[in-house]
Amino acid sequence: MGKKYLYINTMGCQMNVYDSEQMANRLEDLGYILTPSAEKADLILVNTCSIREKAENKTYSFLGRLARLKEKKKNLIIGVGGCLAQQEGEKMIEKAPYLDLVFGTQRLSRLAEHVNRISKNRCKIVDVEMPNVIDETSEALKKSTSYEDGRVTSFVTIMQGCDNFCTYCVVPYVRGREVSRHPENIISEIEELVHNGVKEVTLLGQNVNSYGKKEGLCSYSDLLKKINDIKGLYRIRFTTSHPKDLSSDLINAFRYLPKLANHIHLPVQSGSNKILNLMNRKYTREEYFEKVDKLKSVCSDISFSSDIIVGFPGETISDFNDTIDLVKKVEFDSIFAFKYSDRPNALSVNLPDKIPDKEKGERLKILLDIQTDITTKRNEELIGKIVEVLVEGFSKRKSTNDSADNSIQWTGRTSTNKIVHFAVLDNNESFKGKLVKIIIDRAYTHSLFGKITG
Ligand code: SF4
Repeated sequence: MGKKYLYINTMGCQMNVYDSEQMANRLEDLGYILTPSAEKADLILVNTCSIREKAENKTYSFLGRLARLKEKKKNLIIGVGGCLAQQEGEKMIEKAPYLDLVFGTQRLSRLAEHVNRISKNRCKIVDVEMPNVIDETSEALKKSTSYEDGRVTSFVTIMQGCDNFCTYCVVPYVRGREVSRHPENIISEIEELVHNGVKEVTLLGQNVNSYGKKEGLCSYSDLLKKINDIKGLYRIRFTTSHPKDLSSDLINAFRYLPKLANHIHLPVQSGSNKILNLMNRKYTREEYFEKVDKLKSVCSDISFSSDIIVGFPGETISDFNDTIDLVKKVEFDSIFAFKYSDRPNALSVNLPDKIPDKEKGERLKILLDIQTDITTKRNEELIGKIVEVLVEGFSKRKSTNDSADNSIQWTGRTSTNKIVHFAVLDNNESFKGKLVKIIIDRAYTHSLFGKITG
């Protein structure tokens, strides 16, 4: 079979990063190998996101660029997958007639078959069926070694879909209902990754806290215990955690599971009870504070990150101030904050009292400025402290203080998910995949710098 090149543009969240790896795996048997160049590719896949309007605009502008490539290379196959493909289906081909394939979030198992048919018959295929089952075939479980050789960290999807129907969110419509993978398959995938050099895994799901409940599999904290027992694995992270489902069992896991990283991404979305209710989040700000306090009591140096939506319909200045108050009280280490935008199918589209875009922009700026100060302060508190860093590879950033010498700059993360850069003079020693102790000497908003110690 001749060599063919595959280019994948991945947009959106970590779920899509994982799915793109699965796409590459599934196309290996057809002879496709990954290329970083869209111009060189015989097959281009765009793995899309529909969570915000901005992501949708970005996709169509990228697809416009692909139209020009297709004019020059008639045999080029262009496919679109992911959440926007699921949401739009046939409409995508109407908007971009040069597309050959539109496949939904639950159709990865048919990808190779579709690509094969298109390359033989030059037909167009739209397949956005949602059977709401997890594909656990051997192809799905095989991790592509060609995707990124020698990586230290990896994502592992443990469940797909969501049953929560937060009013602003399209996930239940574009990813389907909640389905969990079998623990044995998750464990064997992680063991394989560890065998290939991975030291840290991030477990992915829209709401990992409800893992296994529907299917009567083990609880999420039991799954974490099993993963904690895997030899050679150093750290476990997970995302995303719905505050309403954060159980005492899971909170306690931060005390007794040594490999569980001291960081939790706990999306709060708003600090106003009125807005949380309109969002159908099913918790109050008081309950959120309670869970944060419990987590701090079992793990004193735990770090928090969160998602926040600004300008949800009906959000008054007083509601917005409740969010600011919550952000200041929790002192998140980082947040992902966005302006609310109407999404097709989301229930919030029908809510009254939409906030003008200019006002949303101003509120977002206020929030981000406050968070930048908090993040910087939290990082500066680490100056002079010794932290344990899992080294991921060479650093792209060169510390100005070290730029005059011939040192090699390495980068990694703390258990609390902070990026740390450090320089060493010995060019022969590889630190990749090792846990090292670093004394922090400088702190900025996005990263820390330090020196190896001990
Ligand atoms: S929990 Fe809410 S925000 Fe998260 S994926 Fe489910 S519906 Fe969307």
